[in-house]
Amino acid sequence: MPFTPLTQLPDRPVTRFAPAPTGYLHLGHVVNAVFVWGIARARHGTVLLRIEDHDRKRCQLEYEMALLEDLDWLGLEPDAGTSAELRAGPSPHRQRDRESLYLEALARLERSQQVYACDCSRKGIAFDGGDVPNEETRYGGRCRGRGLSRAAGRGLRVVIDDGDERFVDAALGAQTQIPARQCGDLLVRDRLGRWTYQFAVTVDDLEQGVNLVIRGRDLLASTGRQIWLARMLGRAAPPVFLHHPLIVKPGGEKLSKASHDTGIRELRAAGMTPGQVLGRAAFLAGIVAAERPLSVEALGDPFRE
Ligand code: GLU
Repeated sequence: MPFTPLTQLPDRPVTRFAPAPTGYLHLGHVVNAVFVWGIARARHGTVLLRIEDHDRKRCQLEYEMALLEDLDWLGLEPDAGTSAELRAGPSPHRQRDRESLYLEALARLERSQQVYACDCSRKGIAFDGGDVPNEETRYGGRCRGRGLSRAAGRGLRVVIDDGDERFVDAALGAQTQIPARQCGDLLVRDRLGRWTYQFAVTVDDLEQGVNLVIRGRDLLASTGRQIWLARMLGRAAPPVFLHHPLIVKPGGEKLSKASHDTGIRELRAAGMTPGQVLGRAAFLAGIVAAERPLSVEALGDPFRE
């Protein structure tokens, strides 16, 4: 049962594996890795590793080191941003070492769109009310016309136009999203001075030449705004996006970083080999029809046309 994309994937794609070091690696990450490395290998592409530690409060060095160790154990070696490079010190493959790029991108964004300071708290925004109940909170634009200065303790938002974004997801087909209705003016930097996920990931994908984004379906709703933002930053053509299924526990519960039954360290301690872990992830994600060991060398096989 080979995986057949619905849309043309780039030849020799540049793709990325972009975990946040907020916990230990679990099978959900390995599912993503199997798609990323598998598709890249099948199409003679490149895999970049990117440590997404924009959220300094939740990210920990211990988790970053554990993540590199687990990837090494699994045999998943990126073509750029190798564990040796990341262990050696500052690297363009780690978000906290990319501050100057984000500042440059912010300056560029300000040339095309209005950026303004915002002192709303998350709670205040929830109070403003959104039109996408149960999904995410839409910012109602309270600070848009207030002309607040950029002082410490204030976030930065960009005015988002009220248009729709259409794209073809390589696994899900045609999609239409209206970012202005989903999230309202986009937060670029939060009140504690941290770049947001949406901003950092869009800048990184642009600057690192990523033309194929492979990630779980939980991030599908973010795609329209990332395509919009990339255009505002001067990106000519957006990357191709592929949102793959997420694996859940037998009871339908989402895997979490605290899941002891799916943590890579636990599976390893229980005696599983790297090939068995990769094979289990590929099976649970529906990439292969039966659970059997899958070697790193064979990761591209299910994705060859
Ligand atoms: N860092 C995100 C995560 O850990 C992935 C971001 C992305 O693929 O766009 O889920």
